[in-house]
Amino acid sequence: MNYYSTKHQTPAVSLKEAVIQGLPSDNGLFMPEHIKSLPKSFFNNISELSFADMAFEVANTLIGEDIDTHKLREIIDKTITFEAELKSLDPQSHVLELFHGPTFAFKDFGARFMANTMSYFVENSGKQLHILVATSGDTGSAVANGFLGVPNISVTVLYPKGKVSLIQEKQFTTLGQNITALEIDGTFDDCQSLVKQAFMDSDIQKTFFVSSANSINIARLIPQSFYYFRAYAQLKNKDLPLFFVIPSGNFGNLTAGIFAKKMGLPISKFIAATNLNKIIPDFLKTGNFEPKPSVQTISNAMDVGNPSNFARIADLYANDLAAIQTDMKGYFYDDQQTQNAMIDCKKRYDYILDPHGAIGYLAWKDFEKEFAKPANGIILETAHPAKFLEVVEQTLNEKVEIPARLLEFMEKPTKKILLSKEFAVFKDFLMNNLKN
Ligand SMILES: *Cc1c(COP(=O)(O)O)cnc(C)c1O
Repeated sequence: MNYYSTKHQTPAVSLKEAVIQGLPSDNGLFMPEHIKSLPKSFFNNISELSFADMAFEVANTLIGEDIDTHKLREIIDKTITFEAELKSLDPQSHVLELFHGPTFAFKDFGARFMANTMSYFVENSGKQLHILVATSGDTGSAVANGFLGVPNISVTVLYPKGKVSLIQEKQFTTLGQNITALEIDGTFDDCQSLVKQAFMDSDIQKTFFVSSANSINIARLIPQSFYYFRAYAQLKNKDLPLFFVIPSGNFGNLTAGIFAKKMGLPISKFIAATNLNKIIPDFLKTGNFEPKPSVQTISNAMDVGNPSNFARIADLYANDLAAIQTDMKGYFYDDQQTQNAMIDCKKRYDYILDPHGAIGYLAWKDFEKEFAKPANGIILETAHPAKFLEVVEQTLNEKVEIPARLLEFMEKPTKKILLSKEFAVFKDFLMNNLKN
């Protein structure tokens, strides 16, 4: 199958090119030409399948002939090594825990699938692929852990000195092997600018095969559709209207949900839940998409003022506002409401939410009241509360248990290289240290 650009200014490409290139040259986003439906038999047996078997069926339907079937199975088995667990707060309200992966956030699904898919595509080229990634925290940890030990690929993570949390820093500076961490004496924007300059530098381009692992890569989106099916498989009463509540920033997660719906998953509506960066809730109300500078909140992984996947959503609905409004409802909340939700959920259900999941919880409670009929609401819990330890402990006024695997990261020795923000220094480092 071919992948076209949402801007339609470049020819469609194969999955291999879409994944290695990341972005089409017209600055659109890659999209699959067709999204096929899964057969009825798949849905009839869904509760009997293992997560990996189910994910394979979905991936095979989405990707088809672009990856050899046995290889695709291998990629799935390397990606789906942890569960997406559905926990019920009450008969109507469910939490889909997407944080059981190596870095305790849902981005692990996308990063691991992309890493193994890229490795497959470069395997026969005889080349070594170098991933350059700038991070303000979470993307770096998911990408570094996703690519850890993956053959034919090395990763260089650039992060701003003193501006990521200790837990985040530990998750990409303690790995070793094919992962190198560069601490840049500058801001996140400086890191991003270094990566951009490297992609435009002719010496680097001539000498090395470099790529990015950015969040809009189509290989990160595809595996995010798997857990919508997994959630459905775990529901006791599958006949009730089904609502997915998605705490959103760049809207990759929600876009993957639309893929799942197009493949036949019976989703009544998506509830788009945001913090004060409410570009999409505003769009759903007014029909105007107006990006704004982002504002800082305690659910900071959703502090996005220009949600990049909006282009994909508009494309999936052929720019039909009424159709989008039929499938989607938007809610937004401020930090005080978010903290109150964390306290409320702990008190009512003895369940600890992270600040992102708490926004989903609020949106579900509001929608549930308006809908006022029996339904299933599935709130995507996008990160483990211990990842946002300070806010969660302050809000709940109690200690939060840190999972043993997260503590392990904290105890490992840090390996990082401090560089100034000068491009010449960064370029020298790459020219002298990357291996072909
Ligand atoms: C990335 C992230 C989000 C936002 O996901 P999008 O796909 O960008 O909408 C929400 N919560 C957490 C914890 C995240 O890391």
